[in-house]
Amino acid sequence: MVGRIESLGGAATMTHIAFIGLGNMGGPMAANLVAAGHRVQGFDLSTTANAAAAKAGVTIATSGADAVAGADVVVTMLPAGRHVQAAWGDLAPRVKKGALLIDSSTIDVDSSRKAHALAAQHGLLSLDAPVSGGVGGAAAGTLTFICGGADDAFAAARPVLEKMGKRIVHCGGAGAGQAAKLCNNMILGATMAATAEAFVLGEKLGLTTQALFDVVSTSSGQSWSTTSYCPAPGPVPAAPSNNGYKPGFASALMLKDLKLSQEAAISVGAATPMGALAAQLYALHNSAGGGGMDFSAIIEMLRGKS
Ligand code: NAD
Repeated sequence: MVGRIESLGGAATMTHIAFIGLGNMGGPMAANLVAAGHRVQGFDLSTTANAAAAKAGVTIATSGADAVAGADVVVTMLPAGRHVQAAWGDLAPRVKKGALLIDSSTIDVDSSRKAHALAAQHGLLSLDAPVSGGVGGAAAGTLTFICGGADDAFAAARPVLEKMGKRIVHCGGAGAGQAAKLCNNMILGATMAATAEAFVLGEKLGLTTQALFDVVSTSSGQSWSTTSYCPAPGPVPAAPSNNGYKPGFASALMLKDLKLSQEAAISVGAATPMGALAAQLYALHNSAGGGGMDFSAIIEMLRGKS
């Protein structure tokens, strides 16, 4: 086991990595692995995604199975749990023994645990490592990786994850990364909706956005949703509110994560009424056409604009 860790960690400067799912997140993440000197073979079902990754130096394989041949590490960055289970089911028997599978997609905890079990059956190390930081963080190599899995899998993954992110947190065993990510994003969805409501209320009560920001950002109502991502235009120049609510983190993805949090809550009997309400608000925003906008655009719906 220890030898296995050392061989992956020691070879981290030139590890052979397979990257499956080269979309908005996976594409730039794979590009950062190439830039760090790794040999990266990738595959996506989309020819556009493959072409963009090839430009960044990823060797495009003809299939997922082709991409993982000889790989020390396999990273998947796919839309949902069913895609990850199908991909790992296909790849696990073909990857060399002792290799490491990392799933960085945001998926349900149950699918994640099933994927880990599948990897174990084939003698593979595995880590769930969903990310926070969005497309900007993926491009800049500043993602936070929120990890679940055994200690040896985490130790083996760290040198690879460090090439794509700035913070790497080990939350516990199989599925713990997904659990922590869902809890975080449930807080984010609820605080963003509450923050947006307060800024609309403040406007209607005659406050300027800046005055309310100056108070909230230094008072007990403070959160990331105000200080780093204020949904009202003005006080935070880099926030999507100053860029026509271009994502950023799309409302459709926030709705996805809130739904996952509610499925998880039901599965363990946790009461999450605020999370449930946030999920309903984002469902409304999405059905009103806001799914492609940044999730802070929920303020536009509250203003009656969408
Ligand atoms: P995306 O739709 O841009 O990329 C997913 C890619 O997977 C697509 O290109 C698709 O063609 C490919 N794909 C699907 N099935 C495949 C298969 N069997 N083999 C190979 N390729 C396959 O999505 P994204 O924005 O890159 O998100 C990926 C994951 O990251 C999702 O789980 C998402 O929830 C999560 N995430 C996204 C963001 C964000 O801001 N975009 C932020 C954090 C987490």
